[in-house]
Amino acid sequence: MIAKIGGAVVGHGGMGDFHAHRMEENPEVDFIGAYDINPERTKKLPGNGKAFSSLEELLADERIGLVTVATPNDTHKEIVIKALEAGKNVISEKPVTMTLADLDDMIAAADKAGRVFTVHQNRRWDPDYLAMKNIFDKNTLGKVFCIESRVHGSRGIPGDWRNQKEHGGGMVLDWGVHILDQMLMMTFPRKLASIYAHLDYVTNENCDDGFHVEAIFDDGLVYRAEVGTSNFISLPRWYMLGENGSAVIRDWDLNGEIVMVSDWENRDAVPIIAGVGLTKTMAPRTDDTIKHYPIERVEGDWRDFYRNVCAVIRGEANLIVTHAQQRRLVKLLETVFESAVKNEVVKLSL
Ligand code: NAD
Repeated sequence: MIAKIGGAVVGHGGMGDFHAHRMEENPEVDFIGAYDINPERTKKLPGNGKAFSSLEELLADERIGLVTVATPNDTHKEIVIKALEAGKNVISEKPVTMTLADLDDMIAAADKAGRVFTVHQNRRWDPDYLAMKNIFDKNTLGKVFCIESRVHGSRGIPGDWRNQKEHGGGMVLDWGVHILDQMLMMTFPRKLASIYAHLDYVTNENCDDGFHVEAIFDDGLVYRAEVGTSNFISLPRWYMLGENGSAVIRDWDLNGEIVMVSDWENRDAVPIIAGVGLTKTMAPRTDDTIKHYPIERVEGDWRDFYRNVCAVIRGEANLIVTHAQQRRLVKLLETVFESAVKNEVVKLSL
């Protein structure tokens, strides 16, 4: 039988409560309790969870071997480093932090303490991402030349720390962290050759409530990542173009399809009337030259994230979410802001 790892949460808001419940139901973790700067937030904890009255009290509890930090983005660095220095293994919520210099301080603290430090990049297990990655990895569409990944809502930014720049608010540091991490994971080992980013300020002057990023990789692959919070009509979650076909996933339920050409030679068409003119190029294909396929589901289990962390703590595995991946992601976030501020394409080799 595996010895359970004592787990605790710092910051018991929306995501902290999610982690507390996942620890409580995890057979490898013994949920010990949580600390929140606002004591109202720890009045109700899962199981027999203890409400700690200070971070110091939580970090001094020797039963705790793993601390998950789920506080606003600007506070991760300080809490993560304190927890590592207290000898705890640490999971930080995303974004791990906002600058590469800060991340390097956190990694140095983990190395010095000899403790496990990783980041909750849970959307690597999203079914829509896994299905799209599967199509890409299997070369189903032939050589892929364009990928579009979008998340659209219409409620602006929630009215909490998420709309305050000083707390690490804005959509680049929120949904952007997920969809840009997915981009780096899907396209690995390609290198990023250039980034152009535009940020939106539709409902908020203080920090971005949406963004558009165009990334070009060293093999010419174009990847567009976009988040919008003023989109009353949502575009598809995913759109992928290859030399022999296209794929679309429209929503979280994986509604979508793959359309493949079955006869490239038969490309001539009778011109159609489009708008007020004629076009041959844009005439729709006839069904005898294309085939439709459903989107294939890929099995994935988000609980593998905590399984992996527990196995790494026991010395039985390597991290799934590595320091090198996080350094690359944070450097990309910095580049997105740099491009947006300069309104320029930033060339890089990342
Ligand atoms: P939230 O506002 O619901 O909760 C944050 C909690 O932290 C609050 O209860 C607040 O009182 C507490 N807090 C603030 N400063 C603190 C401090 N110094 N010490 C202890 N507690 C403190 O926010 P949330 O939605 O839970 O987001 C928390 C983190 O989780 C953010 O980094 C966010 O980006 C991340 N998040 C990740 C996902 C995901 O899918 N991985 C989803 C949502 C949020």
